[in-house]
Amino acid sequence: MAKTIIVGSIGLDDVKTPFGDMKAILGGSAVYASHAASFFTNVGIVSIAGEDFPEEHKNLLTSRNINIEGIEFKGKTFRWSGEYEYDMNEAKTLNTELNSIIEFSAELPNNYKDAEYILLGNIDPELQLKVIEQLNQPKLIAMDTMNFWIESKKTQIIEVIKKIDLLLLNDGEARQLFDTVSLVDAGSKALALGPKYVIIKKGEHGALLFTNSSHFNAPGYPLEVFKDPTGCGDSFAGGLLGWLAKTDNLSEPNLRKAIVYGSTIASFNAENFSLERQKTLTMEEINARYNEFEKMREF
Ligand code: AMP
Repeated sequence: MAKTIIVGSIGLDDVKTPFGDMKAILGGSAVYASHAASFFTNVGIVSIAGEDFPEEHKNLLTSRNINIEGIEFKGKTFRWSGEYEYDMNEAKTLNTELNSIIEFSAELPNNYKDAEYILLGNIDPELQLKVIEQLNQPKLIAMDTMNFWIESKKTQIIEVIKKIDLLLLNDGEARQLFDTVSLVDAGSKALALGPKYVIIKKGEHGALLFTNSSHFNAPGYPLEVFKDPTGCGDSFAGGLLGWLAKTDNLSEPNLRKAIVYGSTIASFNAENFSLERQKTLTMEEINARYNEFEKMREF
């Protein structure tokens, strides 16, 4: 049985940053998130890729013990192209080709239905809803989304938010979804829809946690080598969920730790394109940077 399942896209991305111009590199929300979560827990992916999806990418996932039974292979792989300027907090989407995602049935394999920790990564909210309906007794459902879906399927996103425990959004998306300039206001509006926890990611500047009774502000890591932020949001979400699944503890102090583990893996992810940095990442490196995060907060 997969303890944790991660739903999202599998893609081939064209990414341009001031540090390089890469074509058809491995990406997708489910790929970044499941790789990050695999440092802590056993993961099953729920996604679709095309028949053109390279074997080496499949092997990368299975080499991390990620269960790929829940991946359908049909037609052409999802393609996204994006660009970042020196302020790398906001990707400019140049093109999105949904390709096989349009045909995705999001049927869970039977041995995924008892999964306890669920991440509904960035993908069509109607597919996120379909996954929720197939789950038996999840302990925690977390959800992420992005501007593409907020612009086209806002009503469906609100329906998903009403059924989940933890909402993740970046600052721009939170303002867009809740029509407000204030992140505190966006956090309250999100909590009013039902989730117990709302996390607003602020890119390299950290993340905010809102609950009905408290507020936590996690710092960003001062990275010197910063080549490509693609997938950092997904890596943050995967690392966070992986830590919660490993520790099986949903107390708020543990959620704060999960946020710092998520930030740690996300910060490594930005050091190179695609999954290149995560591929070589070790638990020792993760723990060392986690400890640095702790020290940064002492005063
Ligand atoms: P992030 O930078 O964490 O927001 O996620 C980047 C990843 O999201 C890229 O690797 C893309 O393949 C994927 N992506 C981009 N647009 C979409 C979309 N509309 N739906 C699902 N995944 C997407």
